Amino acid sequence: MIPQREIDVNAYHRRAVGNYFLVVMKLKTGYFFNESFLQHELEPGHPESAERLIAINERIRSSAVAGRIEWISTSFDRNLHLPLISAVHTGSHIDEVLAIPATGRAAGDAVAAVTGAVDAVFTERIANAFCAVRPPGHHAHNDAHHDGINQGEGFCFLNNVAIAARYAQKKYHAIKVLIVDWDYHHGNGTESYFYDDPSVFYFSTHRLGAYPGTGLPTRTGSGAAEGYTFNYPLPKPEYPFGPVEDADLLFTFHVLADHLEKISFSPDLVLISAGFDSLACDPLGNFDLSEEVFHPITKLLMKIAQQMCNGRIVSVLEGGYNPLGLAIAVEAHLQALARFPDESAPSTRTTTP
Ligand SMILES: [Zn+2]
Repeated sequence: MIPQREIDVNAYHRRAVGNYFLVVMKLKTGYFFNESFLQHELEPGHPESAERLIAINERIRSSAVAGRIEWISTSFDRNLHLPLISAVHTGSHIDEVLAIPATGRAAGDAVAAVTGAVDAVFTERIANAFCAVRPPGHHAHNDAHHDGINQGEGFCFLNNVAIAARYAQKKYHAIKVLIVDWDYHHGNGTESYFYDDPSVFYFSTHRLGAYPGTGLPTRTGSGAAEGYTFNYPLPKPEYPFGPVEDADLLFTFHVLADHLEKISFSPDLVLISAGFDSLACDPLGNFDLSEEVFHPITKLLMKIAQQMCNGRIVSVLEGGYNPLGLAIAVEAHLQALARFPDESAPSTRTTTP
């Protein structure tokens, strides 16, 4: 584990000047969004709707955290992004998705967002990132059939997080990547891509037995990657019908932190599959979580990222189907990412490395 530095340098743009870091500018949290995400529709009245992003955008624009957020819009470029998607999906799957009107455009722009976010954190344009994307991605894999309504992959088309992980490894030589999936549902697509790959650690906490029925704790990876998939379904098997509250979710993240330390897994990037369908108000999930719980959970992951990879976190929206609850939870998540309001610091200072 890399020891924590004297100051939290991740919050700043830093340049080595002799034996000193010249800290010249506080970095913001990137907020990746594209208008095309609002054009994608599964079917009228479907819970995975544009209303979700509209609610989040309005909440963040009027939030006190807005001053620490940098809005960034990136667009799909066939020459640039097709090879990146091909690192995860088959050609036939990609062709099928990109051919769907509006949905294909949004899915391509979502890939541009998450890979753009990887660029921005590795080049230190921003401190960390949240990608407010649609469609979501963690169920997406190569075997589903896309008919425009998408019954096969839980509202997902391209696996944004898996593509981001592979891109970070290829472009920035990220040797190890940690993927943390806190969506109410298990990310079966993401797990499938890295199940036998020890360079990517996949952690998922989700509702035991919920769609798509995968994510049993006995699934721990295979071959050289044995132990690099960590499924922590809730509620605990000994209380299968018990409620799942904030303390339960917080506990799973302390278990994760201890586990990473125990196996000495030190990632170069932390990716979050940030789903918010575990809120008490969500129409699809049945956990009893508050919106506020996503603040301390984010802080815990930031601590891990700070200790291991200079705070590099790219968070990507997955589920969450109560627009207002979703927006409040994302605000709590972003307040943590943007270190608001309790971690203000001078805009310029020098310190030894
Ligand atoms: Zn979900």
